[in-house]
Amino acid sequence: MKNKKVIVIGAGFSGLASASVLAQAGFDVTVLEKNSTPGGRARKFSENGFTFDMGPSWYWMPDVFEKYFALFNKVPADYYNLQRLDPSYRFYFGKNEIVDMPSDFSEIVELFEKEEVGAGNQLVRFLKEAEYKYTVAMSKFVYKPGISFLEFVRPELLTSVFRLQMLQSFDSHLKQHFKSAKLRQMLEFPILFLGGTAKNTPAMYSLMNYGDIKLGTWYPVGGMYKVVEGMVELAISLGVKFIYDSPVDTINVSDGKVTSVVAGGNTYDATCVIASADYHYVEQNLLPEKYRSYPKSYWESRVLSPSSLIFFLGIDKRLEGIEHHTLFFDEDLSKHSDAIYKHPSWPEKPSLYFSCTSKTDHMVAPDGMENLFVLIPVAPGLEDNEETREKYFQIILERFQALTGQDISKNIVFKRSYAHTDFENDYHAFKGNAYGLANTLMQTAFLKPKMKSKKVKNLYYTGQLTVPGPGVPPALISGEMAAKLVMKDLGVGV
Ligand SMILES: Cc1cc2nc3c(=O)[nH]c(=O)nc-3n(C[C@H](O)[C@H](O)[C@H](O)COP(=O)(O)OP(=O)(O)OC[C@H]3O[C@@H](n4cnc5c(N)ncnc54)[C@H](O)[C@@H]3O)c2cc1C
Repeated sequence: MKNKKVIVIGAGFSGLASASVLAQAGFDVTVLEKNSTPGGRARKFSENGFTFDMGPSWYWMPDVFEKYFALFNKVPADYYNLQRLDPSYRFYFGKNEIVDMPSDFSEIVELFEKEEVGAGNQLVRFLKEAEYKYTVAMSKFVYKPGISFLEFVRPELLTSVFRLQMLQSFDSHLKQHFKSAKLRQMLEFPILFLGGTAKNTPAMYSLMNYGDIKLGTWYPVGGMYKVVEGMVELAISLGVKFIYDSPVDTINVSDGKVTSVVAGGNTYDATCVIASADYHYVEQNLLPEKYRSYPKSYWESRVLSPSSLIFFLGIDKRLEGIEHHTLFFDEDLSKHSDAIYKHPSWPEKPSLYFSCTSKTDHMVAPDGMENLFVLIPVAPGLEDNEETREKYFQIILERFQALTGQDISKNIVFKRSYAHTDFENDYHAFKGNAYGLANTLMQTAFLKPKMKSKKVKNLYYTGQLTVPGPGVPPALISGEMAAKLVMKDLGVGV
C-alpha cells in the first residue's frame, strides 16, 4: 500500500481526519498546507501572554470526538483533558436580564418553567424528539458520504422521515413548543451561529439542541487548539507527513485522472487527492474548467453560512458579569439574521458573542487579566474595511458597558480584528465565509456538493462545504467519510 500516494490538501480538522484514516490503512499520506501551522479555521495565536483560539470555541457532541479517536484505539483523554462548563453559557437579554444555562438538565427544566408555565414539560418533549433525531441522524445518515439519494432510501429512514421533521422549519417547530420569544432564542442560537436561520433550517436540526443541552458544553483545557495538536500527534504517529507553507496552486489531470499536484514550486505525484481546502476554491482555481464538477453559477446560487467579524482582545483586568461563553441577545435576533440572509448588509444592531476562556483556564492570559474573543456573525461577501471594523468595535465597547457596567476601553492591552478579507487571504474562503454552506433543506446530505468529483476519477473533497456540513464534529466525520470512499474505490478493506 505504501506505493499508493495520497495527497491531502489542507490541514484543517477534515484534512487531518482523512490523513490519519488513510495512513492507518497503509497509504503513503502527505498533507500540503498553505499556512505555517495546522488547524485551518481552528488555528491559534499567542501574543503578549494572551492565547486565542482563532475559530471554534464550542466543544459540542463529545461522542463524535470519542468515535473519531476510537478508530485508532485512542480516547480524547490520550491527547487533551475536557472540562464540562457550568453554566454552559450566559445570555444577556437586557441590562438586568441575565439567564445562565445550567449544565444540570433538571435545573434547565425549572428555568424554562419559571419563564413560561408548561415550558418545562415542553422542553422535555422537545428534547425527546431531538434525541430521536440525533440518534437516527448519527446512526443512519450523518456517517454517509451523500453520493446518492439511494443511500437514504432505506425502510427505517423512510418510516422516520416525519419524525425527523425534514420538511418543517425549525422556527415553526419551536413555536409549537414555546410561546416565550426568549426561550425560543435560547434554543435558536446554535442554528444562527453555525449557518442558518430558524426559518430556513429544517426542524431536524433540533438535534443540535440535544447535542448542546443533553450532551453538554465542554472545554478542552488549554483551548480548542489542543484538539488540533492531538490530531496532528496522532497523524504523525501513523506516518503522515506534513508540509507547511505550501499552497497547492495546480492539480494536474490527465485522461480524467489526477497525476500530481504542484505546491510551492514542487510537484507531488498522487494516486489520489483529497481536497479539504474550501471546495469552491479548489474547483475554481486549481482545476482546468472541464474538470470542475460545478460551474461558477452553481456556487453563486448556494446559501453560504455567515462570515464573522472577530476581535481578539487582551484585557489588563478581570472582567465581571461574563462567563466562559456569553451571548448578548438584547437586540432583535431576527433583524440580525435578516441582515445575514435576507438582505445581506452589516447589521444595525448586532447580537454579540463573547468567549472568555481565561474564566476557566488561567494559562491563556497573564495573571489578573482576561483574553476576550468577540464575534459578530455577518453576511458573507460584504465590503470589509478598517472603518467598518472600528465602527463595530465602538458598538461592542458601548454594549459591553451598557450591559455589564464596565468600561473596558482603557484596559485593552492587545487588539486584533479579523473578518472577510482575512478569511479569504488565510483560507481561500469563498466570499469570506467562516462556516461553509448554510444548513438549508436544499443543501442537506446528497444535495450538498459531492465528496467525489464528477469529472476526475481519483479526486475527492472533504470539509465544511460538503457533507455533513459546518462545525468541528461534522469536519471529523467528513474527513473519515472521504478517506473511506478512497479506500472503497481502491478496494482496500473498510
Ligand atoms: C470564527 C469561527 C468560529 C467557529 N466556531 C465553531 C464552534 O464553536 N464549534 C464548532 O464545532 N465549529 C465552529 N466553527 C466551524 C469549524 O471551525 C469549521 O467547520 C471546521 O474547523 C472546518 O474544518 P475544515 O477542515 O472543513 O476546513 P478548514 O479548517 O478551513 O481547513 C482547510 C485548510 O485548507 C488550507 N488551504 C486552503 N487553500 C489551500 C491550498 N491551496 N493549498 C493547501 N492548503 C490550503 C487552509 O489553510 C486550511 O488549513 C467555527 C468556525 C469559525 C471560522
